[in-house]
Amino acid sequence: MTESATIVWFRNDLRLHDHPALTAAVKRGGPVIALFILDDAAAGRWKLGGASRWWLAKSLEALSHDIAQRGARLILRRGDTESILKRLVDESGATAIYVTRSYEPWATGLEEKLHKSFGGLGVVFKRFGGRLLREPEDLRTSSGAAYQVFTPFWRAFRKEFSAPKALAAPRHLGSVPDAIASDDISDWKLAPTKPNWSGGLAKAWRPGERGAQLRLKNFVSEGLANYDDGRDRLNVEGTSRLSPHLAFGEISPAACWRAAVDALHQTHGSDRAVETFMKELAWREFSYALLFQFPQMPNEPLRDEFAAFPWAKSANLKAWQRGLTGYPVVDAGMRELWATGYMHNRARMIAASFLTKHLLLPWTSGEAWFWDTLVDADLANNAANWQWVAGCGADAAPYFRIFNPVLQGEKFDPDGDYVRRWVPELQRLPSADIHKPWAADATTLKRAGVVIGKNYPLPIMDHKEARARALTAYDRVKSSKRG
Ligand code: FAD
Repeated sequence: MTESATIVWFRNDLRLHDHPALTAAVKRGGPVIALFILDDAAAGRWKLGGASRWWLAKSLEALSHDIAQRGARLILRRGDTESILKRLVDESGATAIYVTRSYEPWATGLEEKLHKSFGGLGVVFKRFGGRLLREPEDLRTSSGAAYQVFTPFWRAFRKEFSAPKALAAPRHLGSVPDAIASDDISDWKLAPTKPNWSGGLAKAWRPGERGAQLRLKNFVSEGLANYDDGRDRLNVEGTSRLSPHLAFGEISPAACWRAAVDALHQTHGSDRAVETFMKELAWREFSYALLFQFPQMPNEPLRDEFAAFPWAKSANLKAWQRGLTGYPVVDAGMRELWATGYMHNRARMIAASFLTKHLLLPWTSGEAWFWDTLVDADLANNAANWQWVAGCGADAAPYFRIFNPVLQGEKFDPDGDYVRRWVPELQRLPSADIHKPWAADATTLKRAGVVIGKNYPLPIMDHKEARARALTAYDRVKSSKRG
């Protein structure tokens, strides 16, 4: 291979459009070697969870196909990143490695290390943007610190911001010599087999860049106008469902932002709906900026006093994970998650509040379960949101705001359709009873075929009692802060 080959090392940027590193590699001239490395050890305890592994396999298949259509091959290798990159540089004679910048603590450290070690070998190691709309270093308070509160972050974010111009996917990538070997994706055994629980995921999603583009297109034409009202309704598909595509970088946040700006111009949606959507994209940026500033965020509370929080040790974690808490809206969310790898944002907030406040279980145990089961598992978003709900995050909901799962269900799933869909044993209950089946009269329960304690559990924790217990626990950390 010629001297000037460039390795494009793909990670959470599994797309060909709007890919600054890839565009620069093509522009550099010479062959482009597209590479993906599965390096579980680098991420340690935050290696990809089960649902993400399923997604990754499909996404890599799609990327491989798109690259093959351009005359090249996606090279797949598994193991230690640095050794693999070094070997591939030797095999190909590549003189540059281009990569989209990442923000996970293990990734930032690794990027620094590779920059140094390849620099020493005379190989260019260059990082590009593309995963975020704005780099964390660009947004600082007047005193030079990172923002810890969303509203001023959003104000600063919006100021004079326009998304970068779209970058077309390269038309041609040129062939990679056969001597450069690639693993076969099936050898990585990313998809579950015994049991194969991925049937529901396969029905719900189309991983890959094309699937992402279609999602965005459909959302802009059908969902965006009603986003403001629809996004909190559990029983309607009122949000974009772009999160797994964004998590794997199958679509750029810039493409989402540009689509929103176009919608503003063309008045596809009411301005408020579009602004709200843009704000959600900025919450993602805020989470990443927090992770960048506080790399300990996935493991430790950002508010120090919570380090001493008296979390319970309890067998109730399993009931929560399986959607058997006896609170229908919590159970519906948890079962939606298990079946599809996704949970509505409102349900995530209710389920997370229930875990941390009703059950007093550590937010990290919920974070770990979400990490394993979500197709959109994203270190920054997951950690920031768990800390937000638990009350220990930078700009968190106050701990004493404890959701009442019955009222939340009645408000955001007023007809009970979300519960009926995911908790079929309650299907025949009337809407008035569906969020508190234990309170329904005997005739209603009998007619609906519900036997509380038999085919649907009694609440594992009484709401009033749970609330009092949570507030007492919170008082302890509050006073420990004062002390
Ligand atoms: P939309 O409403 O269409 O929003 C568009 C995009 O904006 C999303 O795709 C996402 O990238 C971003 N976004 C929306 N809400 C948030 C938010 N609250 N914080 C950060 N970014 C946001 N999101 C993840 O992507 N990965 C996670 O691992 C994750 N874990 C979460 C855990 C908890 C406890 C909670 C309460 C929320 C979590 N979220 C996570 C945030 C949010 O629930 C999802 O991003 C959203 O539900 C995805 O659906 P959507 O793409 O239809 O969102």
